[in-house]
Amino acid sequence: MKWQGRRGSSNVRTSSGGGKMIGGGIGGIIIAGILWLVFGVNPMTALQTGQVVAGGGTNASTEVANDDSRDTRFVKVVLADTEAVWHQIFNEGGSTYQEPSLILFNGQVSSACGSATAATGPFYCPGDQTVYLDTSFFAEMRQNLGITGDQQGSGDAENRGKAGDFAQAYVISHEVGHHVQTLLGITQQVNEASRQVTQAQANKLSVLQELQADCFAGVWANRNQQRTQSIVEGGFLEAGDVDEAINAAGQIGDDRLARASGRAVTPDSFTHGTSQERVSWFTRGIESGSVQSCDTFSGAL
Ligand SMILES: [Zn+2]
Repeated sequence: MKWQGRRGSSNVRTSSGGGKMIGGGIGGIIIAGILWLVFGVNPMTALQTGQVVAGGGTNASTEVANDDSRDTRFVKVVLADTEAVWHQIFNEGGSTYQEPSLILFNGQVSSACGSATAATGPFYCPGDQTVYLDTSFFAEMRQNLGITGDQQGSGDAENRGKAGDFAQAYVISHEVGHHVQTLLGITQQVNEASRQVTQAQANKLSVLQELQADCFAGVWANRNQQRTQSIVEGGFLEAGDVDEAINAAGQIGDDRLARASGRAVTPDSFTHGTSQERVSWFTRGIESGSVQSCDTFSGAL
């Protein structure tokens, strides 16, 4: 994926709210206790890393990301690419796109949906219209997808270094897809409908919502490819990028859709559908470039 030299978004901020990951044992309890005092995080829930917990605490201080690291520059460009595409799509439909914020955090962060740790994985919070990404996410994806790059015989070190770029962009654009669902009122409809049905039916709606975010990520890739033709030769996609994202769609079943309600969320109750479904909806989006093709609900709402 080609990303250097394009505009970076000004909506990216950093938060170093929680510092180190919370460990177990006495040390962990002490740290959790301090966190409770400082950030209003319940120590018992904070110890259960990997959970988005009920919030209500104040937001950890955030600041505009001025650092020049590769990951921050990359995130800014990808977010700006999503802004450009979604502005275009909303304009075509006669409405205005409201840009989300993106917070890059280290260790722990407090959102309108509760506090989260790196173990939570990337997520979008409708309550503050913000995408949350922990900084360890990039290293993990590089590691996981770099191996795949080798297996596919992608050859030289240059290519191996790039392995995972588009997969990372895909994850960011999937989270932005949840933002689009919020702007379109779909998130609210799903929450509303989920309250009136059985848990199993609510889970099904949650899966359809995830698959639609995959499809929206595909729509973004299609439209960004068209858009960048005039900026970089051949557009922003490179050979192997789409396979890379499809591979990622199959491997990453881990983001958590944090709910606006503010109550505790059990991560395991959220699934993303089967790998096959994820790949199929992402493919549909990237082939059509049309939001209309992403009707995963088809009357279920
Ligand atoms: Zn999701």
